[in-house]
Amino acid sequence: DDSPKTPKQSTPVMAQFHRLKAEAGEALLFFRMGDFFELFFDDAKVAAACLDIALTKRGEDRGQPVPMCGVPVHAAEAYLARLIKAGHRVAIAEQTESPAEAKRARGSKALVERAIIRVVTPGTLTEESLLDSKAANWLAAIGRAGDDYAIAAADISTGRFELIACDTGGLPAELARLDAAEVIADERIAGIATTQGAGGFDSMEGEAALKRRFGIKDLAGFGSPGRAECVAAGGLLAYLDATQKDATAHLAAPRRIERSGLMAIDPATRTSLELLRGADGSPATSLLANLDRCVTPGGRRLLAEDISAPLARLDPIRARLGLVQYFAEDQLLREDVRTRLKSLPDLARALGRLVAGRGSPRDLAQIRDALAGADDLQAMLAEGGELPDLLASLLPQLTGHDTLVAELDNALVESPPIDASKGGYVAAGYDEELDRLRELASGGRQAIAALEAKYREATGIANLKIKHNNVLGYHIEVPAKSAKPLMAEDSGFTHRQTMANAVRFNSPELHEQATALAEAGDKALALEATHLERLTALVTGQAETIARSADALARIDVGAGQAHRAIEGGWTLPQLADQPCLEIEGGRHPVVEAAVEKEGERFIANDCQLGPNDRLWLITGPNMGGKSTFLRQVALIALMAQAGGYVPASRAKIGLVDRLFSRVGASDNLARGRSTFMVEMVETAAILAQATRNSLVILDEIGRGTSTYDGLAIAWAVTEAMHDDIGARTLFATHYHELTRLAERLDALSLHHVRAKEYKGDLVLLHEVAEGAADKSYGIAVAKLAGMSPKMLARAKDILSRLEAGRNETGGIAAGLDSLPLFAATTPEEEPSDPLVEALADLDPDALTPRDALDALYRLKRLA
Ligand code: ADP
Repeated sequence: DDSPKTPKQSTPVMAQFHRLKAEAGEALLFFRMGDFFELFFDDAKVAAACLDIALTKRGEDRGQPVPMCGVPVHAAEAYLARLIKAGHRVAIAEQTESPAEAKRARGSKALVERAIIRVVTPGTLTEESLLDSKAANWLAAIGRAGDDYAIAAADISTGRFELIACDTGGLPAELARLDAAEVIADERIAGIATTQGAGGFDSMEGEAALKRRFGIKDLAGFGSPGRAECVAAGGLLAYLDATQKDATAHLAAPRRIERSGLMAIDPATRTSLELLRGADGSPATSLLANLDRCVTPGGRRLLAEDISAPLARLDPIRARLGLVQYFAEDQLLREDVRTRLKSLPDLARALGRLVAGRGSPRDLAQIRDALAGADDLQAMLAEGGELPDLLASLLPQLTGHDTLVAELDNALVESPPIDASKGGYVAAGYDEELDRLRELASGGRQAIAALEAKYREATGIANLKIKHNNVLGYHIEVPAKSAKPLMAEDSGFTHRQTMANAVRFNSPELHEQATALAEAGDKALALEATHLERLTALVTGQAETIARSADALARIDVGAGQAHRAIEGGWTLPQLADQPCLEIEGGRHPVVEAAVEKEGERFIANDCQLGPNDRLWLITGPNMGGKSTFLRQVALIALMAQAGGYVPASRAKIGLVDRLFSRVGASDNLARGRSTFMVEMVETAAILAQATRNSLVILDEIGRGTSTYDGLAIAWAVTEAMHDDIGARTLFATHYHELTRLAERLDALSLHHVRAKEYKGDLVLLHEVAEGAADKSYGIAVAKLAGMSPKMLARAKDILSRLEAGRNETGGIAAGLDSLPLFAATTPEEEPSDPLVEALADLDPDALTPRDALDALYRLKRLA
């Protein structure tokens, strides 16, 4: 056909390609041709480079050579994975009919129909091999209605669906919490999006789409989402439709996330506390890795979520803690639960694939095994005496699938294959007709084996074999030298093929047997396929309750895993309170502790007490003394408690933290570039704008990225604002010794330091937090620890003593602060000495020669 879009010069298949490519837009187009997915033009160049495969040419199109590369269909998933990881999106164009069907329908030269059946994007994956089993895989859509923003987030690999209302300020924090694989938005707010959406960002459309999708009449059942939420949901659902085409993505009813129910943690704080990734970017050094003792992928994903979104309400935190405590106090039970959970397949993701229409017989068996395991677990747990509330509410979610499990159990073999195309997954005895067909097929195979024996005897050719290949099907093969008698016209054999060493034949008997065998095989396959379809429908029909079982399993795994970790580390059950207090005895930083112990050293536990009357701790002390470790451990303990877990301390009482802030000054982040000071100030300003009385703020060496005076001035002002206006619980580590003078005026500020002592000229860092300010900075001793040469150290010592002498004379860099009206009133200071007066006093006129006297005069003149 020569429609205007189809240039004359294109062959029909290239014309078809251009049409599909136009539909795919920016996505790379995988164009199915037989056993390969081919890519053409720029797509081919991009993919060949990314996948490191050969770039070839396929004839010409409109006078230009066509660059091409391809990947075999059977290995496509691995290549897809690499393209997706590299940030590409891939549209899959499949053949929607077989060449035979095309010929039958439209003549011998007919082109096979192709259509895009799916667009694979980072946020819409369901394949096991493309996903990280430890993390949720969120697709987030941003919606805006006036000044209100919202995020609709879906993880179609497990069916999770969330609606989150927020303001512009809260948007980055929420996106950071989700750590979405893909963020889509309307072009108007495309700044933070990774992908242009597929339309649908409209509140009316969104509302209609939600109602359609979930078959409801009124959104009240979903907690009446606001306009921005509907906009976001509209965009999300439209994108899912556009990428999933005919398949339906797995989505549970949306859960509205009330941000006030969660501890707010902004992106900078997440990074600085190394929640999901360590400073080196690797998950292995993160808090999550340190905490994770889960035995199921679902548990791991849930724990990551708990850590990313700690709660800010007492009841739900206590409910989680109750569950952990239950397992912590009963070792046998805990171990039993963990052993049982460990053997269970990833229920949520198997379900996700089945609902998305990409399920396999293996997925059905995983559903069967996981649900059976859930039921056993329920029975075991129900035997316990008094259950914690959360567990009591989870148990019913684990059951109720008996009929389904029994059906799957009867229908499937023990461990079915992932690939359904060769059959063999429906169990014997499940379907009489299938059994009969299989018997026929196996009878056919026996008959063929018998034929072989018969022909050997009849022809006397001992090497005669009956073989099978894809081109000839079943055939008789004899060595070339023995072929002659079979070539005779009345031999009963028909010649098919002559090879170098062998000759191949057919026979009417063999043909008959082979046809019967193939027919029985095809019928059996088709019958198995209908069972697969029916069983899949059976499972997806119960997707909601199965998903709830998966959730319950994950929560139990997290509870038992957290308990296990707590026992392992000697942790304690935190107490939670509704006032802004924070009392930690014997607190430790779990990640640093593990690192220190690996080095064969001991981690020193420290206390922290913050309350309304002592809410700002100013911490000084030498570098490497343990200041940031202490700061972060306090933040982490609060976070872990509110995530619903035990904490590394001997006692902890945590007043609910509404927002957690952690900032590390520029000096620790030199690698980040020259604008670090700017970044630091922007972030500090953000804290000052958002922190409340109920927040917890950790500031580590803020103000250091600039000149001493600027830095001190800023640190000073920040401390005052924190103390006077905001009143948040604050820990501030600083090397500005001058700040300690603030303690004289700010009542709720107290001074602390990390202890160190010099022993035989060496510095010993005690990592102990003590009251009061540090007596000196030990900078040179730290340099010695760091391996600086003795010569340089001696020179530095010399310079330091001169500087210190100068400081003592002038009153230090904070001297000028005395003249601030606020401060002068409260500081009894001795008269500052005048160097001119001192120099004069030092002169002894009687001891001077005239020449010395003249020199002295010049010196005095310079001092004036
Ligand atoms: P600072 O912030 O004062 O420069 P850090 O908190 O970065 O010091 O600590 C430096 C190193 O000291 C850590 O990497 C760790 O090895 C060790 N350390 C810190 N705190 C402790 C502690 N409480 N017990 C034992 N070792 C500690």
